[in-house]
Amino acid sequence: MPELPDVEVFKHYLDATALHQTIDQVAVKSRKILRHLSPLRLARRLKGRKLASSHRHGKLLLIELADGARYLVLHFGMTGTLKYFEDEAEEPPHTRLLLRFTNGSYLAFDCRRMLGEVDFTEDAKAYLEGRGVGPDALELTWEQFKERLAGKRGVIKSALMDQSLLAGIGNIYADEILFQAGIHPQARMDRLSEEALRQAYDTMREVLEQAIAVQADPARMPASWLLSYRDKQAACPHCGHAIARIKVVGRTAFVCTRCQKIDR
Ligand SMILES: [Zn+2]
Repeated sequence: MPELPDVEVFKHYLDATALHQTIDQVAVKSRKILRHLSPLRLARRLKGRKLASSHRHGKLLLIELADGARYLVLHFGMTGTLKYFEDEAEEPPHTRLLLRFTNGSYLAFDCRRMLGEVDFTEDAKAYLEGRGVGPDALELTWEQFKERLAGKRGVIKSALMDQSLLAGIGNIYADEILFQAGIHPQARMDRLSEEALRQAYDTMREVLEQAIAVQADPARMPASWLLSYRDKQAACPHCGHAIARIKVVGRTAFVCTRCQKIDR
């Protein structure tokens, strides 16, 4: 499922391929992917215009059009991805939105499981507020992070994944951050020491930045990361203890109970 590092990779891909070309055709292949507007209205807003720049906020990609502050918004759901191509035959199998440019190339928003969304807004800031999306995880200072998370009810894993507190972290990166920080996902926020919270913040930044640096490709991530061991048979890359698979607020979490402490 695309989380902050994956969407950052999509942003770089889009920036390197589809910007500054005029859109001449808009095909909505699955109406359900549109959050608010009709295919016709989306086409009217995009046709004849260029994609000028893009901005990632949490797991959302906001693509600004060339003629003023208007944004195509992509949410990648569980399986969303982008593909830019020149030959029609290369269209991916689960294309939900297809843009054709006047130079003959295409940009597809492919989403197998249909949990992604395409939207449009004229005010990015108000849009994010309206969706209840908090600040981007990589834009938060330590002070802001502490102010938003310290003493919250519930457990740390759900706080890290709460998009209204900070945006961008999902199930996989929450597990990774907590593993590397040595904090159990069920550690209660109201009992967490400031030192442990600081550890979570520093580790969050390191993990997200390192993941972006390797294009969010699990095969290129360090062998010491949990990400490669999301398997209940696996041994902890730090201590060799078996990685446990547990449920934390309804989601599967992978944890080394020897390395990750609940009282920190
Ligand atoms: Zn361990």
